[in-house]
Amino acid sequence: MVKETDVVVVGTGAAGLFCALHFPEDTNVLVITKDEADKSDSFLAQGGMCMLRDDGDFDGFFEDTMKAGHYENNKASVEVMIRSSQKIAKELIGYGVEFEHDGDKLAFTREGGHRRPRILYHKDVTGKEITSTLLDNALKRKNITIKEHIKMMDIICDEKTNECYGLIVKNADGDIDVIKAKYTVFACGGLGGLYKHSTNFRHITGDALAIALKHGIEMEHIDYIQIHPTTLYSEKPGRRFLISESVRGEGAILLDKNKKRFCDELRPRDIVTADIHRQMEKDGTPFVWLSMERIPEETIRSHFPNIMKQCLEEGYDPTKECIPVVPAQHYFMGGIKVNLSSMTSMERLYAVGETSCNGVHGKNRLASNSLLESMVFAERAADEIQEKMKAADESRFAKKADSNISDIDMSLYDDDEKITAEYKELVLNEIDKEKSRHE
Ligand SMILES: Cc1cc2nc3c(=O)[nH]c(=O)nc-3n(C[C@H](O)[C@H](O)[C@H](O)COP(=O)(O)OP(=O)(O)OC[C@H]3O[C@@H](n4cnc5c(N)ncnc54)[C@H](O)[C@@H]3O)c2cc1C
Repeated sequence: MVKETDVVVVGTGAAGLFCALHFPEDTNVLVITKDEADKSDSFLAQGGMCMLRDDGDFDGFFEDTMKAGHYENNKASVEVMIRSSQKIAKELIGYGVEFEHDGDKLAFTREGGHRRPRILYHKDVTGKEITSTLLDNALKRKNITIKEHIKMMDIICDEKTNECYGLIVKNADGDIDVIKAKYTVFACGGLGGLYKHSTNFRHITGDALAIALKHGIEMEHIDYIQIHPTTLYSEKPGRRFLISESVRGEGAILLDKNKKRFCDELRPRDIVTADIHRQMEKDGTPFVWLSMERIPEETIRSHFPNIMKQCLEEGYDPTKECIPVVPAQHYFMGGIKVNLSSMTSMERLYAVGETSCNGVHGKNRLASNSLLESMVFAERAADEIQEKMKAADESRFAKKADSNISDIDMSLYDDDEKITAEYKELVLNEIDKEKSRHE
C-alpha cells in the first residue's frame, strides 16, 4: 500500500515532535515510531535542559560546551544553540511545560562541566515533562498524524539524482508499505540498543545510521559515543538506570571500595568515566560507590523522587547508604552529517536530534545540552522544509517519486530479522573502522 504525505518524521522523541509542531496547519505531517509514542529516550531525560540565563553567561556557556567537547565542536552550531535557548524554553512553557521555580523566577540546577547552574528542570523527570507535553500538543493538531508500531525499514531514493522520496516501512500487522513524502525527517535517536549496557531504550538501535550508510549519505564522527559515568549497578539484563549528573551537581561524591573519595565528580563525563574505570580496575570491583550523604534528605526526596524510587526498588536507600554505580553507554555525539538547517547530504532528507551530527557536542556532550539541541535544530529543519515547499515545483517530484516507487522490490524487506542484523553489523563495523582511523 502507498500512503502519501507532505512530510514524514521518523521518531516521537523531543526532536521529532518539536519538528512536527513547527509545520503550519496546511502541511500534512505523518510521525511514525517503531514502538509506543512515549517510548523514546527523550522521555528518560532526568537532569534537565540548558538555557542561557543572561547575556553575561554567553561566553561561559559557550566555553563549557566547547571544553566538554574537547574543542572539536562546530562553533556556529554551538552559537545557534545557545542563542536559541531562551526562545525554546519560552515556547515549551507556552505549550504547558512546568519547569521548577524559585519564587516567581525559573530555578536552575547544575551538572558536571557547567561553571554555574543554568539547567531548567522538573524534579528528576524533565524529559517526561517536556516530551509528554509536546506529544499532547501534537495529538491535538489536525495536520499531524502519529502512528505507533511502524518501523522504518529503508528510504525510497534515487542515488543518481541524490533525492529521497519517502520510506519503506513495516506495519504493526507485519505488512510492508510505502510512505511517499515530499520531505523525510530522521528523528530516530541514538544507538544504545546496539550495546549490552546502555541507558537507552532497547529499540533505539541506530536504524537511520544504517540506512544512511547503505545509501552513501555522509556521516560524521560515528565513533563519538558517550559513556555516562553513573548508572545504577545491577546484575539484571536490560536498560541501565541513570543516576543523573545533577545528583553530583547537588553534592553527591564518588567513593572507592574503602569508601574513600578518588576524583573530582564535577568534571566532564568522559573524564569522570575514565576516573571510575581506573578505580574499578585498581580495586578489582564491578562498580564504585556514590554517596548522597552531603545532600539534605529533603532535597533527595523532592529533587530526585524517581531516582529514590528506583534505588529503593533495587534494595538501596540513598538517604541512608551509598549506592553502587557503573559507567554505561549513554549518548551518541556523532551521526548523519547535517548543516545548520539539519539537511543531510541527500536532497529532501533531513536529520534531527541524536541521530544527526551538526557538531554541537564535539567529541563529548556537555550535560543537558541534548534536549535543547534536538529542539533548536528540529525547528530549523521544519522552517527550511517549509521554505522549500513554497518554492518547489512539486509535479516534478510526484513523477520521479512514482517511478522510483514502482521499481521497488518489496520482497527484499520480508525478513525483518535479517535486515536488523545486517543494519547492526553495518553500524558497528563503521564505528570500529572510524575508531581505528582515530587511533
Ligand atoms: C536515561 C537518559 C537520561 C538523559 N538525560 C538527559 C538530560 O537530562 N538532558 C538532556 O538534554 N538530555 C538527556 N538525555 C539525552 C536525551 O534524552 C536524548 O539525546 C534526546 O532526547 C534525543 O531525542 P531524539 O528525539 O533525538 O531521540 P529519542 O527521544 O530517542 O527518540 C527516537 C525515536 O525514534 C524512533 N525510532 C527509532 N528507529 C526507528 C525506526 N526504524 N522506525 C520508526 N521509529 C524509529 C523511536 O521509537 C523513538 O520514537 C538522556 C538520555 C537518557 C537515555
